[in-house]
Order: sequence, then structure tokens, then C-alpha cells
Amino acid sequence: MKNLTPKGIALRISLFVATTVTIIVFFAEFFSESIHFLSLFLVFTSSLIISYFGFLIAIEQFIYKKIKLIYRLIHSLKLNKDDAMSDINLSKDIISQVSHEVIDWDKKNKMEFERLKDMESFRREFVGNVSHELKTPIFNIQGYLLTLMEGGLYDEKINMDYLAKANKSVERMIALIEDLDIISKLESGTIELDLKKINIVDLTQEILSSLEIKANDKNIKLGLHNTLNKPAWVMADADKITQVLVNLLVNSIKYGKEGGETTVRFYDMDENILIEVADNGQGIEEKHHKRLFERFYRTDRGRARDSGGTGLGLSIVKHIIEAHHQTINLRSTVDVGSTFSFTLKKAKQ
Ligand code: ADP
Repeated sequence: MKNLTPKGIALRISLFVATTVTIIVFFAEFFSESIHFLSLFLVFTSSLIISYFGFLIAIEQFIYKKIKLIYRLIHSLKLNKDDAMSDINLSKDIISQVSHEVIDWDKKNKMEFERLKDMESFRREFVGNVSHELKTPIFNIQGYLLTLMEGGLYDEKINMDYLAKANKSVERMIALIEDLDIISKLESGTIELDLKKINIVDLTQEILSSLEIKANDKNIKLGLHNTLNKPAWVMADADKITQVLVNLLVNSIKYGKEGGETTVRFYDMDENILIEVADNGQGIEEKHHKRLFERFYRTDRGRARDSGGTGLGLSIVKHIIEAHHQTINLRSTVDVGSTFSFTLKKAKQ
């Protein structure tokens, strides 16, 4: 009885009706002792034809009325309004047709439900992270101010020092707000990239020079290794790529070891240039690699050191690279070092 169409149902019922009518007529003729096989044949075929069309019309009307309602309901509840409502095809297996629609609708609903649940937990986590990040500098500022108000202001040994520390906390809050602002702009797509032909080797050289003092504090040697034998022209937003390189290089210094080394390398990859920022610092455990580019994600080591970063640096880096329709990757081994590599599209010569 699987996959019954209205025609199949009508045929089965009318066969039953025609057989019953023929049997009744047969017995009537039998008792009146005048059995005519031709008349029995005519009774069978005419009752089969009449009941077949009668039942077919009735069934189709019934199914059409009932199923159309369900169909309409499903389609009106469908989240994707682009799913145009297909008409019911009564010559096909109507029940399977509708059950497919219901299963499909249920699947889409579940997916949407999961998406909303993820968004909700993501929102909660995000608000929690922001307030957690703001708590530390705010409590620090409050602590310094209270000490100053309780007489520290007139103590020459601490007053300037405490004001400087409070100011450092304010700077940390500003950095966090600025990073959040960039992230929300990148995510909402309100930042337009200013794509221009830039020489990525020259740009990197300038950035390395500007970070020399910071690197010297930790005795870290910053270097550039250019394996390309022609100028490395890429199409990119210079300010945004500067931010990417600064974030990666500052991290390599922050999480690098005293007396270590950071090298930026360039490779020719057909349509793209591959840029690698490699350090020989503390490295990152494999288990963190997948989530490292998420907002506020820090490794236990990164957290323990309290590097003063916002925890948004790599997330901003990934957003910027993806806005350029390129990718960023990480290779890292604990206590050996980390290499972040990304590509940029070559500019036409
Ligand atoms: P943060 O402000 O904490 O530096 P990031 O998003 O820039 O935030 O980096 C996220 C985490 O990734 C860091 O807290 C650190 O644990 C880890 N990390 C980033 N770069 C490196 C690196 N070069 N070496 C080791 N760990 C790194």
C-alpha cells in the first residue's frame, strides 16, 4: 500500500465495488436461473468505470482541500520566502510529496533554530568578555584614585606614579574600545577597502623600523628576507595591511623570547604573494590553533602573562585578510615558535 496516488486508491476501491456489484448480480441471476455472462461483464465494466471516475473526483477534491491547507500553512511558515510554493501534483504520490515538504521544512526550521541559539550564546559570551576586559582597568583606576584621595595626592613618592598608572589603564580601555569599533565595522561591512597598488616589501620595511625600539626592549632581532627578485606589488589597503603586520609583529615580540628573532618572508605564489611572519618564541599548542582567531581568545600562556593586549588583535587581522578575499594560516610548535602566513593578490605590472 506504499506510494498510493489518488488514481491508485480510486482503482482499488472501484475494483472492490465493481466486484461486489457483479457478485450480487451474479447471485440474483443464479437464483432466477438465468445467468448471462455478457450482462455480468457489462455490469462489472460499467460499475468499474463509473465508480472509478466517481471516487477519483471525490478523492481528489478531498485531498486537494485538506492537503492544500497543510501545504499553504507550511509555505506561509517557511522562513525563506524565496521557496516558491509549488502546486500539488495529484498524479504523483501526494502523501510522500507532502511528507517531503514537511521534513524539508522541519530541517530548515531546526537549522534556523540552531543559528539563533548560536547567535544568542555568542552575544552573551561577547557581552561577558567585554565587561570582563573593562573590569580590570576600571578597578585599577578606582584603586589609584581612592589612594590619591585618601592622602596619596600629597605624597610625592606615589602621586605621579599612580596618576601615570591610572592613565595606562585609561589607554588600555581606549585601545579596547577602538578595537571593538574596528571589529564591528569590519563585521557589518561598513568599512570600504581602499585598494591600491602597494610595494609590500617596502611597507614591511617601514613597519619593522617603527617597531625596532619595542623589539630592542626584549633584545629581539627583527629581520626581512626577500626571496622575490622583483618588486612585490600587491593590491591592498595599505592602512589595513599595516595594521595586520603591526599586530602580528607586536605579538611576535610580546610572546617571543628574550634575545629571540622575528623574520618576515615573501614568496611568489602565481597570482598571490605569500607573506610569512615567523618567530622563535613560546609557540602555541595545537589545541588552540582552531580558535585563536576568535575574539578575546587567549591561550593559557597568553593569559598568564597578561600581555596587556585586548585579545582582539588576531580577530581583526583575520577580518582584514578576509575582506581582501585572502586567507591567513598558522603553524606553531610550543617552545619552537610560530609562523603566521597570509596571501595578498599581486597587482598587475
Ligand atoms: P592579545 O591582545 O592577547 O595579544 P591577540 O588576538 O593578538 O590578542 O592574540 C590572541 C592570543 O594568541 C594571545 O593572547 C596569545 O596567547 C596568542 N598568540 C598570538 N600571537 C602569538 C605568537 N606569536 N606566539 C605565541 N602566542 C601568540
